[in-house]
Amino acid sequence: MLMRVVIVGNGPGGVELAKGLAGEFEVSIIEGEKLPYYNKPMLSHYIAGFLPEEKLFPLPVDWYGRKGIDLHLGTSALLIDRAKRLLVTSKGEFPYDVLVLATGARAREPVIPGKEHLLTLRTLHDAKKIREKLEKEGEMVILGGGFIALELAGNAAKAGYQVRLVHRRKNLLGLDDELSERIRERMEGIGVEFHLDAKVLRATGEGLKTDRGYMPGRLKVCAYGITPNIELAIKSGIQAGRGVLIDGQFRTSAENVYAIGDCAEHHGTIAGTARGAVEEARSLANILKGGKASYDFFRSAVFKFADLSLAIIGRTRGEGRWLDEEVKVFYEGGKPVGAVVLGNMRRAIELEKSIREGLFPS
Ligand SMILES: Cc1cc2nc3c(=O)[nH]c(=O)nc-3n(C[C@H](O)[C@H](O)[C@H](O)COP(=O)(O)OP(=O)(O)OC[C@H]3O[C@@H](n4cnc5c(N)ncnc54)[C@H](O)[C@@H]3O)c2cc1C
Repeated sequence: MLMRVVIVGNGPGGVELAKGLAGEFEVSIIEGEKLPYYNKPMLSHYIAGFLPEEKLFPLPVDWYGRKGIDLHLGTSALLIDRAKRLLVTSKGEFPYDVLVLATGARAREPVIPGKEHLLTLRTLHDAKKIREKLEKEGEMVILGGGFIALELAGNAAKAGYQVRLVHRRKNLLGLDDELSERIRERMEGIGVEFHLDAKVLRATGEGLKTDRGYMPGRLKVCAYGITPNIELAIKSGIQAGRGVLIDGQFRTSAENVYAIGDCAEHHGTIAGTARGAVEEARSLANILKGGKASYDFFRSAVFKFADLSLAIIGRTRGEGRWLDEEVKVFYEGGKPVGAVVLGNMRRAIELEKSIREGLFPS
């Protein structure tokens, strides 16, 4: 009999893992949403009207069946019965030999007064609400300075909507002054209005009160980061911090239970990107198939803010040196540990490889 792998979550982590194991294991995916896999990084393109809804679904409907993956949509995982090796769900029990938590994350809830007047963005359902309101209002206020805030701002401004972005820090993406300034200038060029270093005090139906004055806007989207979905793990007695705690082989504190992607925390870091979730899934697939465990948890990501492509590779704080107009490399103790690349993504791939493999000159 084939080993039974049950995966909770049909996001990029869960899907990539199922793809890697299909054929060699009996694979099931349990997913709370009723929709098949869709592309979250493209949601802001959909909101701006650059992409029809059907293009958000990269896999044909019969993909799972053809791969032999048993997909259960609209099914919530409620508890892991570790003694009996059963996953208890809203639609029955699923026995497992290996269980993988790929439950991802949700948008972090704002805590400011009037938060009921703010929308957040994580799912297609959220995106539909935002798109509908944006078309009606013709303008949007975005709270936050991370990559989701910037993707949304860039695409909506490029589509001709009036966009204001309010961020409590003076820098974007947690980057240094120079890089943040470069990104801001490029985005101002396509019409995004920035209000940095501004604290939001209260939201109302008509706008926002900040410590730098009042800002009108009936549509307000809050992009304050993510909250990993760890409730299933905690209820099942599995250790979690901000995410489900994992070791270098993606093992949780429970035997035969693993975690990957946005729900998993390794040495204080969380993947936080589709790219990271997919890399972790590939590495776990390799481990479960008996391969060598060698994932380095090196964090990097590629984004597109309207027409500006940007790669953030490894650690990007501390001492940075520009190589030229588009690449800034960061060093710790004289050793290159990260880089930011503006524009040229082919260079970003080469640079990531050389920093990751320790081949970039000090
Ligand atoms: C608007 C937006 C733009 C983004 N842009 C980029 C980008 O440009 N580049 C990039 O790399 N990343 C981007 N990301 C981030 C990326 O989408 C996430 O990091 C990625 O989806 C994480 O994958 P995951 O598989 O870990 O989890 P998720 O994609 O969150 O999937 C987890 C799934 O688990 C399901 N689930 C949770 N709990 C249960 C339960 N108890 N029972 C059943 N099912 C459950 C959820 O319904 C969900 O479908 C973006 C995200 C958003 C929202």
